Amino acid sequence: MTTQKAAPVHTRSQELQQRAERYFPGGVNSPVRAFRAVGGHPPFLESAEGAYLTDADGNRYIDYFGSWGPMILGHAFPPVVEAIERAARKSASFGASTAAEAELAERVVSCYPKLEKLRFVSSGTEATMSAIRLARAATDRKLIVKFEGCYHGHADGLLVKAGSGVATFGIPGSAGVPDQIAHLTLALPYNDLVAVEAAFAAHPGEIAAVILEPAVGNAGCIPPVDGYLEGLRAITRREGALLIADEVMTGFRVALGGAVERYGMDPDLITLGKIVGGGLPVGVFGGKREYMDLLAPLGPVYQAGTLSGNPLAMAAGLATMDYLQEHAGEIYPRIEATAKAVAEGVAAEAKKAGVPLTTNRVGAMWTWFFTPGTVTDYESAAKSDTAMFGRFHNSMLEQGVWLPPSQFEAAFLGTAHGEAEVKATIEAAGEAFKAAL
Ligand code: PLP
Repeated sequence: MTTQKAAPVHTRSQELQQRAERYFPGGVNSPVRAFRAVGGHPPFLESAEGAYLTDADGNRYIDYFGSWGPMILGHAFPPVVEAIERAARKSASFGASTAAEAELAERVVSCYPKLEKLRFVSSGTEATMSAIRLARAATDRKLIVKFEGCYHGHADGLLVKAGSGVATFGIPGSAGVPDQIAHLTLALPYNDLVAVEAAFAAHPGEIAAVILEPAVGNAGCIPPVDGYLEGLRAITRREGALLIADEVMTGFRVALGGAVERYGMDPDLITLGKIVGGGLPVGVFGGKREYMDLLAPLGPVYQAGTLSGNPLAMAAGLATMDYLQEHAGEIYPRIEATAKAVAEGVAAEAKKAGVPLTTNRVGAMWTWFFTPGTVTDYESAAKSDTAMFGRFHNSMLEQGVWLPPSQFEAAFLGTAHGEAEVKATIEAAGEAFKAAL
């Protein structure tokens, strides 16, 4: 049996929680980790291997959040661990160019041929922030369009009607973002081309870029409706605005070449993160050469980073990308099939228990929305019964299944998940739905 049956003890986690609260606001270094949306305190994690997490009290959990996306090859994957060890022996950081940067760039570009040039940064936030700056410089325009419920990191202008933690805590944006900056962001409903046409009509020649998660993960999983991505491309091209595909979450997840490959997108700029760093901090922004060559030292757009292209991060990224590329033909169909089995198996348990549930899935990324209605945008996602989700989440956790702790997040799995984990998860869900009602 892979899940524990007796209620787990959390004595050590509770001690660690008190200690953490002394130093960190909410006891955490990133807000959604605090489990506020589901109540209670998160177990503190100590180690992980493959598909399993172990907390500070020795309880084990099947992992369905994968460090919010990066751990597609499972935790402590030996080739990644060895690559980091080898790199660390040479130096943790040079702050100067190394061969590994171009080697990782070659891997990334072979998955994303549309990246004519790119830059490595250390987070998804930096990647999207830099892409927006570049788009404004390239078009000499100020406004940007984003979509309600999409999260693109925590740069000021991108927190307007953002998903992830911003949606989880039900706040419209963030205090501390001046109105003058928030007003430069137009937040529109996702999957609605009419709203995009209206925004361009209302602001002719003023919109620098449209940025989106091509398949949303941060409002929970919401796929694009047929024709939506093509429509965005046609409108932005006609209007002289750049189209930015934020693939920090979907990159190397929904296909080796991300949503660009899966949906045949043609964006001007692409942002990546999470998987590309193999669990270490890496972000990427890149795209057409004519835009990327605007960056310093070639051009007038400034962007920089002390730890950009860090050798340990490049090594972890390279080991991850090498493995993914070599086995892509086997990995992507398999993780998608496993995700389908768990997503549908749990949905069937909900039906048996009489719990209204809508399951959205794209590849190995999905969300169980606690609502009977279809979920195509943030407004429909927000109709979910978040209290019921919380009870379901907490029962799953007690039974040894770690789901993302918010209705407005996507679950992930990877190559280490197999039949045993799927079976245990579906069994646990049967109990959890009873507890949730
Ligand atoms: N863009 C998307 C689509 C994301 O999902 C995230 C993080 O979850 C970000 C950007 C920000 O990335 P980071 O947390 O590395 O700054």
